[in-house]
Amino acid sequence: MDFNNILKEIQDEIQKYFTRGKLPDYIPMLAQADENDFAMSLITLDGEEFNIGCSDKKFSIQSISKVYTFTLALEHYSKQLYTRVGHEPSGDPFNSLVQLEYESGIPRNPFINAGAIVTTDCLSSIYGENAFNEILNFIRKVSNDTTIANDEEIFTSELGHGFRNFALINLMKSYSNIKNPVDDVIQTYFKQCSIMMNTKQLAKSMLFLANHGKDPFSKSTIINVSKAKRINSLMLTCGHYDASGDFAYRVGLPGKSGVGGGIVAVVPKKMGICVYSPKLNKHGNSLIGTKALELFTTKTGLSIF
Ligand code: GLN
Repeated sequence: MDFNNILKEIQDEIQKYFTRGKLPDYIPMLAQADENDFAMSLITLDGEEFNIGCSDKKFSIQSISKVYTFTLALEHYSKQLYTRVGHEPSGDPFNSLVQLEYESGIPRNPFINAGAIVTTDCLSSIYGENAFNEILNFIRKVSNDTTIANDEEIFTSELGHGFRNFALINLMKSYSNIKNPVDDVIQTYFKQCSIMMNTKQLAKSMLFLANHGKDPFSKSTIINVSKAKRINSLMLTCGHYDASGDFAYRVGLPGKSGVGGGIVAVVPKKMGICVYSPKLNKHGNSLIGTKALELFTTKTGLSIF
């Protein structure tokens, strides 16, 4: 398949959507992104790479970080993890408080904010004050890139404005579903969201999920086959919050979005993908990113269905 040409076609066809969508402003630093940015990267299991647009430009990974923290927490806790976070789609926005109160402080899944805050708390219990460094090291390992770091300005911007996340963590603390001090856990969570990566690095970091949990280059096992299946399943059913059904319907791949404008996707047994465009749809997912992935699976037939 001529992936370079397909990426070129996608880039041409998404141009008409640049007038749509909105930059997020609840984290002030994210509102400063360049609205016209677009990048898309593919990397196959044999290491062939295809890129278009500003694929070297770094942006904050935001909720894409939830894939890595869930992977790490699942590795340490196995089934025990599901006593504290569920594995069902929420049908609610990523930062919703309503369901959490009804369900006694147990978040529906690890890919909404409340669920990711619980997985971060689980990692804090294991790693203590090193939790953020361990998360960062894991991301560096799966991306095979030791230069990856977080952006302190984006971190501080969210720390000063992330009021709903403070509400979520305090509500869960009241149900004893947060074991560590709320200030420590929320800071680790905001820090992991402020990690900066480009589409090339993010696409590469998905390869272990496309390869039954194994790094295709070093052949080392990141996570076992069964857990890799579960992570992919949750990306498909919960990776886009209350638009997860729509994403599965349009794109047909496990995926995870972040309000920084990135979306990662996995083509099982074939490749990792990442697309970036910072304006979001009303569900908080990259509008053009979703469109580009839909065009990709339509043109290539590379969906899981
Ligand atoms: N840091 C963001 C938040 O907690 C992440 C949300 C997202 O990317 N959907 O609100």
